[in-house]
Amino acid sequence: MAMSADLQDAYNDQITLEFASSYAYLQMAAFFEDANLPGFANWMRQQAEEERAHAMKFFDFVLDRGNQVELRSISAPSADYTSPLSVFEASLAHEQKVTASIHDLYSRATDAKDYESLPLLHWFIDEQVEEEATVGELIEQIAMAGDNGAALLLLDRELGTRVSGGE
Ligand code: MG
Repeated sequence: MAMSADLQDAYNDQITLEFASSYAYLQMAAFFEDANLPGFANWMRQQAEEERAHAMKFFDFVLDRGNQVELRSISAPSADYTSPLSVFEASLAHEQKVTASIHDLYSRATDAKDYESLPLLHWFIDEQVEEEATVGELIEQIAMAGDNGAALLLLDRELGTRVSGGE
């Protein structure tokens, strides 16, 4: 059964937000490439892929429901980063915004008694807990490294091993 027009609108906003996340992480990847931290850049590239996969998960769900996908405009992501820490702080703020948006989608779906939405949105609620925990941990580790270049390079080496964004 197709979802309501209102809910369809909210899903289309969410698809766009996930693509905007992918775009923002690509900008962050460029910052790290420029800063000669290829491991951090790799992590951000994988993250960008993961966000694209999130967008496509919502995209396919809307189509499977017999609704219409309407992609929106994406604004340019912020690029005024000053340090690795500032990038990850921006990343955490962004993920918190995504979490709030998914919670809002969940409220709309339950209000509309759109039960088909719930398994998908539960998956995303879990995913956001993981995203925020991962980024929060990296913020702590980057802060610990501080001005110690060797510690930062060690972390860069570790983040360079991330091979797939998965989901
Ligand atoms: Mg996402």
